[in-house]
Amino acid sequence: MSFSNLSYSLAPWSLADLFPGHDSPEMKGAFEDLDTRVAGFESNRPRLSAEIDPGDFLELVRQMEEINRVARRIGAFATLWFSADTQNQAAQNFVARTDQFMAGIQNRTLFFSLWWKSLEDEDAARLMESAGDFRYWLEEMRHFKPHTLSEPEEKVINIKDTTGFNAMTMLYDTLTNRYVFKIEVDGEEKELTRDALMVYARHHNPDLRAAAYQELYRVYGEDGSILGQMYQTTVRDWHNEQVGLRKFSEPISARNLANDIPDEVVNTLLEVSRRNAPLFQRFFQLKARWLGLERLRRYDIYAPVAKSEKTYEYSQAAAMVLDSFQHFEPGVADLASRVFEANHLDSEVRKGKRGGAFCLSVEPGVTPWVLVNYQGRPEDVATLAHELGHALHSMLAEEHSLFTWHASLPLAETASTFGEMVLVDRLLEEESDEDVRRDLLFRQVDDAYATILRQVYFALFERQAHQMTNDGASVEDLVNAYMENLKEQFGDAVELNDEFRWEWVSIPHIYHVPFYVYAYAFGQLLVLSLYKQFQAEGEAFKPRYLKILSAGGSDAPARILAEAGIDIYSAEFWQGGFDVIRDLIEQLEAIPVKQMQAEI
Ligand SMILES: [Zn+2]
Repeated sequence: MSFSNLSYSLAPWSLADLFPGHDSPEMKGAFEDLDTRVAGFESNRPRLSAEIDPGDFLELVRQMEEINRVARRIGAFATLWFSADTQNQAAQNFVARTDQFMAGIQNRTLFFSLWWKSLEDEDAARLMESAGDFRYWLEEMRHFKPHTLSEPEEKVINIKDTTGFNAMTMLYDTLTNRYVFKIEVDGEEKELTRDALMVYARHHNPDLRAAAYQELYRVYGEDGSILGQMYQTTVRDWHNEQVGLRKFSEPISARNLANDIPDEVVNTLLEVSRRNAPLFQRFFQLKARWLGLERLRRYDIYAPVAKSEKTYEYSQAAAMVLDSFQHFEPGVADLASRVFEANHLDSEVRKGKRGGAFCLSVEPGVTPWVLVNYQGRPEDVATLAHELGHALHSMLAEEHSLFTWHASLPLAETASTFGEMVLVDRLLEEESDEDVRRDLLFRQVDDAYATILRQVYFALFERQAHQMTNDGASVEDLVNAYMENLKEQFGDAVELNDEFRWEWVSIPHIYHVPFYVYAYAFGQLLVLSLYKQFQAEGEAFKPRYLKILSAGGSDAPARILAEAGIDIYSAEFWQGGFDVIRDLIEQLEAIPVKQMQAEI
C-alpha cells in the first residue's frame, strides 16, 4: 500500500473522542465522577497498613489509575482546546478551573504515595511482587523515600511553592513574554515577538542574522541584572529544598533521580559531549568556507548554506512521512495513519492557535492528538514526522497501564527523532537536486548541534551557576562564567560577540525545570547510536528497536536499553552518537566548496 494515493488536507482537529464540549453533560458528569472516585479513594485510608492484602492493595492502585484516567481526559480537553484557540476566554477560564480542580485532587490523594514511600522495603517488595505492570511505577515512587518529608512538611512546600518558586518563574514569563523586538528589514522597521525575530537568525542575509541576535540580547540585557537575580532566587530555592531539606548530594541529582538516570551516567554523557566540542568546531569551520567567511560569527551558526526554497504541499508531506514509515516497517505506518483517520491532527496555521508543535497522548488505547503549524518548508515536513513519531511511540506501548505506558523523559524523544531520521534518509534517497540534498545534510548537523552540544553546555553552565550562586557569586560573576563556557564550546572556530553574555537569562528551561536540558542530548545521542545500528544491521535491528518503544515507561531507562544491548554507562556508547555526526560532517567535507559559492 502506498500513502501517496490518499489525500490529506490542512484542517483543525476534532476533540469529540474526549468530550462533545466543555459545557456538555458528559463533561459535567466527568467532574462529578472524578469527585466521587476521589471520595471513595479517600475512604480507603484506614485500610492502608504494612499488612494489607496484596489483592486489596492492587485494587487501590487500580482505583488510583481510574482517577488519573478521568483527570487526564478532562485535562487533555482543556489543554487541546486552549492550544487550538488561545485567545478564547471560555477556553482560558476552563483551563484555570481545571488546574485548580486538579490541584485539589492531588492534595486529597497525596496520602497514598506518602504511605507507599513510608513502607519498609520488605513490605513494599511483597506488594510489588503481585503488582504486575504497575511494578515499576511503584518502585520508582519509592526511589524518593530517602528524600521525602512528613505529610505536613510536604504540604507546606506545595503551598509555599505557589507563591515562591512557581511565582518567581511566572513573573519571569510575564516579564519576558511582554518583550517586543525591533528589526529593520528591507528599509521597514518591524516589531516582532521573539519567535518571529529568531526566524532572521536563519536568514541568508548575514546583516539580518546579526541584527536579530543583537536585538534579542539588547532587550534581555536591559533587564539582565533583574533576570539574573530572579534566576539566582530559583537556584537558591532549589538548593534549600533539594539539598538542604531533601538531602540530595548535589542539585542535579534531584533531576537525575526523577529521570531515573544514575548520576554517573549523566556525568559520562556530559564529559563525552564536552570532549566532542572540537567536532562541532570543525563543522563551523566548514560552514564558514561555504559562506565565504574567514571565521564564522556566532550569528552565523544556523545560517543556510544555500537558498533552496523548496516547499511541499501538505498532502504530499503527509504521504512522504507515512511512506517513509512504511518503508521502515509497515505496521508503524498504519499506526501513524490512525492519527489522520481519527481526525486528531490540527495542521493548519490559524490566528489564535499556539505556535510550534506537540503530540499529546491521553491514555492507552486512545489515538493521540498532534498539533503542527504546517507551512510547507522542509522543516515542517520533518516536524510532522517528529510528532507522528511521538504518537506511534505511545500507540506501540498501549498494552501498559496508564502509569507505565508513557516513556520517561530520557526515552521520550526516541521515536520522534528516529522518525525524522527515517524521513530524511528517504528524502536523501529520492532527491536528485544537489542543493536540496546538501541543505538536508547541513540541517541535520545544525539540529544535532542545537540538541546536543548546545544543551550540554547549558547543563554544564547550570551546574556551575548553582555551585557559584550557593557560594555567594553575583550576577556579574555568572555573566563571566557564561562567557568562559561559550569560549570552551566554540574554541577558535567561532567569533563570539559580547552581547551573548546575556544568552543564559533568555533560556526559560533553566528557570522552569532546572537541569532539564541534558535530556535533549541524551535522547538525540541515543537515537543516533540506534540509527547507526539500524544502518549496520538492517532488518535484524527492527525487533530490538520496536521492543524499546513498546516498553513505554514500564521499566528504568537503563534496563529497557540494556535489554536491547545498549549500555548507557559506557563512554563508547555515547561516543557512537558523535561518530554518526562525524560521518555526516565528512560527507559534507567531501563536497567541493567552490561549486557552492557560485550559487549563493
Ligand atoms: Zn519531541
